[in-house]
Amino acid sequence: MKAAIGARVIELTRGDITHETTDAIVNAANSSLLGGGGVDGAIHRAGGPEILEACKQLRASTGTCPPGHAVITNAGRLACRYVIHAVGPVWHGGARGEAELLASAYRSSLRLADEHGLRSLAFPSISTGAYGYPEPAAADVALRTVRDHLMGETSITQVRFVLFAETTLATYRTALSALACGGPESGPSAS
Ligand code: ADP
Repeated sequence: MKAAIGARVIELTRGDITHETTDAIVNAANSSLLGGGGVDGAIHRAGGPEILEACKQLRASTGTCPPGHAVITNAGRLACRYVIHAVGPVWHGGARGEAELLASAYRSSLRLADEHGLRSLAFPSISTGAYGYPEPAAADVALRTVRDHLMGETSITQVRFVLFAETTLATYRTALSALACGGPESGPSAS
């Protein structure tokens, strides 16, 4: 599924984000930046030790990365050029600022991509694995935040959500269709 935001595009696809050839892929990292399970483990396994080395250096110079923030590193042996490590919130029921922190994790990633003049970016579904964020709510935050960014001044022309499970893809499709119902002025036109 694709949705046009003016001349830019949001795409939804099922797959393994480590295979993406976008300028950067985004990692659902944890604050330690020292690797973990899920998509984080997959990215470090596929990308090799160079990425972890860069994460360790960042951690030594700037410390841990709090929820809502992101950092950028090389991509080791991956096909993309950069990995953006974004830290989403752990879900605690929704009353602890989770939605704002999740939106901030996406915004920080998009901002880093702009600072590096990147044109294409791939996101996983941040926070909806080990961090327990309910998928429908997370999909709405993710897609809205990306849509809003693509409606402003940005170097990014393509954002792909690469979703591991068919059920996650279906949830994102529903959320993107709901956003598109706002019409061309307020939302993407889905096709
Ligand atoms: P978090 O700790 O932010 O919840 P996880 O890595 O546990 O992050 O899960 C985030 C999402 O990434 C989940 O939907 C999970 O199924 C998915 N995922 C796991 N491995 C991959 C992969 N190789 N490519 C894309 N998505 C993946």
